[in-house]
Amino acid sequence: MSRIIGIDLGTTNSCVAVIAAGEKPEVLADETGQRITPSIVAYTPDGEILVGVLARRQAIPNAENTIAGAKRLIGRKVNSDEVAWFAKSAPFRIVAAPNGDAWVRIGKEPKSPQEVASHVLARLRAIAEAASGEPITRAVVTVPAYFNEAQRQATRDAGAIAGLDIVRILNEPTAAALAYGAHRVKQGRRVIAVFDLGGGTFDISIMAVENGIFEVLATDGDSALGGEDWDRKLVERLADEIFDQYRIDVTTIPVALGRLKESVEQAKKELSEASMAIIRLPYLATTSSNEQIHFERELTREELELVTEDLRKRLAAPCQRAMEEAELTPRDIEEVLLVGGMSRSPAIQAVVESIFERKPSKGANPDEVVAQGAASYGGILAGTLDDAALLDVTPHDIGIKVGNSSFAVMIKRNSMLPVRARRLFATTQDDQSYVKVEVYQGTSDDISGNRRLGSITLEELPQGKAGSVRIELIMTLDVESLLSVTARERSTGKQAQVEIRPSGGLSRKELVEIITRRRKQQRAPDGTNETRSGQADA
Ligand code: AMP
Repeated sequence: MSRIIGIDLGTTNSCVAVIAAGEKPEVLADETGQRITPSIVAYTPDGEILVGVLARRQAIPNAENTIAGAKRLIGRKVNSDEVAWFAKSAPFRIVAAPNGDAWVRIGKEPKSPQEVASHVLARLRAIAEAASGEPITRAVVTVPAYFNEAQRQATRDAGAIAGLDIVRILNEPTAAALAYGAHRVKQGRRVIAVFDLGGGTFDISIMAVENGIFEVLATDGDSALGGEDWDRKLVERLADEIFDQYRIDVTTIPVALGRLKESVEQAKKELSEASMAIIRLPYLATTSSNEQIHFERELTREELELVTEDLRKRLAAPCQRAMEEAELTPRDIEEVLLVGGMSRSPAIQAVVESIFERKPSKGANPDEVVAQGAASYGGILAGTLDDAALLDVTPHDIGIKVGNSSFAVMIKRNSMLPVRARRLFATTQDDQSYVKVEVYQGTSDDISGNRRLGSITLEELPQGKAGSVRIELIMTLDVESLLSVTARERSTGKQAQVEIRPSGGLSRKELVEIITRRRKQQRAPDGTNETRSGQADA
């Protein structure tokens, strides 16, 4: 059987890993040795599509057509809070698809985030094929635990466009816990926290692990907090200094700003190991009196920590909320796992220690651990790895509309999958001839704040007074998040059933069109439109 690769499709960076029989998961490097691929896709003026480092390198002059953070749009409506927030700072155009989904606009052409993300997946697939020397068609892809069904389905669609059958969508904290081996430590039930601070987002998950089963007890986080905010603070500080000294605002000079950003990120990373780093930027800009600015400055770990103190303070509240939701205190949590590149920072680790009252585990590579866990899971599914049986949970309440606008929950969020729920209803009018059940998911008591998944109508009800005709509603959600809803009238046994594969926004027709177009482009004889990527920064 062919291998199933594991993919961490991140907001900022992505990573691919695979596991061979009897071995540990291995993160795969591209042809230049890079193990992490920036989740950036660029459409160049000559019709080329660049992915990763190459896309990032040309981002400044081609900002409108360089898409970073497509994961923030995938499976979301353009009028959602997250998209509205993201649109404020995104240098590219975010537009509404006919169904209200958030798409991007490249030149005159709208493109779905599924299609954008598919280029990253295709790139990772190519890295895996080159490394293993065999065709790869199947993958386990991770998503945040709070992703709803539409976001999960949209991720599957991105895989299909990239020619990958996504055999399982796995929650990121579950993948991390699997890679850390959290299920192998001891018998019985253990509670762990997965603290994930990446480039753009912060996620905290509290999980229980028992007999190889991972259960997400609570998730929280801050989708507007990540390593890039640390970089931004430093850029602001240094740009102010340069202004004070030379009366020139480097944030308005794209090339200078790009260099400044790159060098502060590098310094920030170095300061996770060393107590001092040097930022050296010769020929950064030219002043109005034609003087060249050669910027050079030492940055100490202490100063970095001082400048970014307010960012660190934002980490505690989501952790407290998650513990409250799981009805746990720090004492109940036996281990804290670090995920995300930013969690390498000693100051972040100190915050984690103060919140959870214990030292976090550092045994793994935080930027690779999610891909490793996905690869292990791929190994379990492919039969090459004999390890934990895994169950996942649903991250949202699923229920029905009652009355004009209320939401009655049937399957509670964080229920372990598969799950089945049953509820009895009665008619509300005399001689009511039919009943229509509308299914929603979300967390709001008011239906308008939730996402409609579908509906089911049961007709030809027996005549009777209001309240006398009883209808049983059964919902089941399987491990692949396929929701099936059955409504049955009790006295006659008459029933209606619907299966809902929560949609990711692209219709089958749109998916087929994108895949066909992609195949044609790949066959283009002049070599244009092929996807290029990789190559380390010089
Ligand atoms: P991820 O999304 O997990 O790849 O995390 C990327 C973020 O981690 C970026 O903001 C990086 O600057 C940051 N990062 C990577 N390595 C380090 C490090 N050694 N120390 C501090 N931050 C880091």
